[in-house]
Amino acid sequence: MAPPSPSDLLTPPRPTCATDLLPLLKSTFGYDAFRGAQAQVLDRVLAGHSTLAVMPTGAGKSLTYQLPAVALHGTVLIISPLIALMHDQLRSAEAAGIRAATLTSADSNTAETIERFRAGALDLLYVAPERATQSGFQAMLEQATLALIAIDEAHCVSEWGHDFRPDYRLLRPLLERFGHVPRLALTATADAHTRDDILVQLGMPQDGLILSGFDRPNIRYHIEPRSGLPQQLSALMAAERGPGIIYAPTRAKVEDLAAKLDTGARPVRGYHAGMPADVRAANQAAFVASENMVMVATIAFGMGIDKPDVRFVAHAALPKSIEGYYQETGRAGRDGDPAVAHLFWSDGDFATARMRLSELPEARQAADRTRLDTMAGLVESAECRRAVLLRYFGEHPPEKCGNCDNCLTPPDTKDASVLAQKYLSAVYRTGQSYGQGHLLDVLTGKDSERVRSRGHDKLSVFGLIGAEEARLLKPLVRTLTARDALRTNEHGGLMLGPAARAMMKGETTVAVVAPPKRRTTRSDRAAANPSDNPLFEALRSARRDLAMEAGVPPYVICHDSTLREMASAMPMTLAAMSGITGMGAKKLSAYGDAFLQVIRRF
Ligand code: ADP
Ligand code: ZN
Repeated sequence: MAPPSPSDLLTPPRPTCATDLLPLLKSTFGYDAFRGAQAQVLDRVLAGHSTLAVMPTGAGKSLTYQLPAVALHGTVLIISPLIALMHDQLRSAEAAGIRAATLTSADSNTAETIERFRAGALDLLYVAPERATQSGFQAMLEQATLALIAIDEAHCVSEWGHDFRPDYRLLRPLLERFGHVPRLALTATADAHTRDDILVQLGMPQDGLILSGFDRPNIRYHIEPRSGLPQQLSALMAAERGPGIIYAPTRAKVEDLAAKLDTGARPVRGYHAGMPADVRAANQAAFVASENMVMVATIAFGMGIDKPDVRFVAHAALPKSIEGYYQETGRAGRDGDPAVAHLFWSDGDFATARMRLSELPEARQAADRTRLDTMAGLVESAECRRAVLLRYFGEHPPEKCGNCDNCLTPPDTKDASVLAQKYLSAVYRTGQSYGQGHLLDVLTGKDSERVRSRGHDKLSVFGLIGAEEARLLKPLVRTLTARDALRTNEHGGLMLGPAARAMMKGETTVAVVAPPKRRTTRSDRAAANPSDNPLFEALRSARRDLAMEAGVPPYVICHDSTLREMASAMPMTLAAMSGITGMGAKKLSAYGDAFLQVIRRF
C-alpha cells in the first residue's frame, strides 16, 4: 500500500455521520446543534443513501444539503421550481460563505458559473427542472464531480401533490444517468399518497422516507368571528409590530383593506394577480426587505417567498381548505420565533361557499363539501386548534397545546340543542325567507308593525325565548350555517339546509361557543423581541445599515434571535462574538466588527 501523500494528510477524513459535521455547522452557520430530523437526514446523505425528507416549513430543510455541499468533495446540484426561490437561497448561502451559483434564464453569468463548476469551485448549483432535463446540461455535469442531487419542493413530481409540475416527471433520465450519486428529495407538504408517489417517481427506496411531524409549535392559532374587521386587524397590527401578511378573498377586498389599514403608522401594501406585473414585483421585493411591512394579498402571494421573520398571518375570510390554511399560516415564524395566525370568519363566508358549491358539477361537489365541513369543524371547535389540525394530517397530538386561543382562554361552551330547534322551527314557520333581525323579533315576541302585519305574532314560536337565550342567537346562526342546517338566499333570508332535519328531531346536539371578549392585549403578544432594550434597537439599526450596503434583506445579515443573544451576552471581542448563535465564520468576519462597535458604545 502506498504511503499517504502529504495532501491526503491535510484533507480531513470524509464525514460519515451527522455528528462529524457539528464543527462545520458551527463554523459555517454559527449553530450549536441540529434541529428535529436534520441529523437523521444527514446521516443518510453521508452514508450515500437516497432519501425523501418531509419536514414542515421552517424546520431547516436547506441545511440538509447546504452542509454536505461544504463538507463533501464535489458539487451539490439542487433542482428547484422557482427562480425567485433560487435567488433567495443563493443570497443566504453566499452570506454564509458557501460557494454557490444559480443557472437560470435570469442570470447573465452563465459562462462563469459553468467554468466554476468545471473547476470544482462550486459547492452548490441551483437549476430549474427544465434545464436539468436537457441533455446538453447533463453532459456538462459529467465534466466534474457531483456529491448529491437534491430535489426541492419534491411534491411537484406527483400528480397527487397540490402543485404538479410536468417537468419534474422528466427528471428520471437525469437521475438514472447519475445513478451513483445519492438523491435527496425535500418537501413540506405531502400526504401518504403523494409520498409513495414521490419515492416511486424519483426511484428511491421505500425505507428512504424521513417524516418529521407537521407541528409548528411557535405559531399561535386564533380563530374568531368577524366583527368590525378593520378594527380587528388594526388591533392585531398594533400588537404585532413585525412583518405580516393579511389574506383577503378577492382583489377588490385586497384594495379596500389595504386602503383602510394604511393609516401611516407603518407601511402597508397590496398584492393580487390583477395588478401590473412591475407593481406586484416591487411590492413583493419591498415586503421581503422590510422589518415591519403589512402585505394585504390574495393567496397568489406567498409561494416561493422564504422570508423567515413574518410575525403574523391573518385570514380576512374563511380559507378554502385546511391544507390551504395550514400552508398559508405556515409562512409565519419560519425563524422559530413566536408568531401568530389569526382567522376571522363569518356565517356569510359559509353561506357564499355553499351557494358556489351548488353551482359546481355534481361530481366535484362531494369533495368540496367535505372540505367545507372540515373547515366548519375547525372554526367552530372549542377544542385545541392545533390538535384539530394535526389530527387532520394523521398525527396523534396531545389534547392541549397551550398555545392557541382555545387552550389559552377556554371558550364558554353552551348546549344549544333546544334553542336550535326553536330557531329552525321559527325559520320554517315564517316561510323560510326572513333574515336574522326579523326572526329575533318573532322569537323574543317583539310587538312591532312588521311582525303583526305578517301575522307572525300568532305563531307558536312568537315570544318563545328570553333575553338570556337571545344573546346566543348570533353564535347559533353561525354554527347552524357552518354545519349547513341553515342556508341564506340571495336576499339574506334564511332557509333550512340538509342538516336541519336531524337537529329538529333531536338526533344531533348543537353546542355554541359564546366567545368571551378576547382582546389582543400586550400580555397576549407573541413577540420575543424586547420592546425596551436600547442596545437591541441599536443592533437592529446597525443591521439595517449593513443590509442596505450589501443590498440584501436584513434577515440575510442575521436573525432577530442572533441580535437578542448579542444584546444580552454583550460580547466585547470577536472571539466572544463567535459564540453567538448564527454568527458563522463568514458573518463574523464581514459583520462582527460593526456589531462590536455598537456593543462597545453601551
Ligand atoms: P425550510 O426550508 O425547511 O422551510 P429553512 O431551511 O429555510 O427551512 O430554515 C429555516 C430557518 O431555520 C433558517 O433561517 C435557518 O437558518 C434556521 N436553521 C436551520 N437549521 C438550524 C439549526 N440547526 N439551528 C438553528 N437554526 C437553524
Ligand atoms: Zn391548543
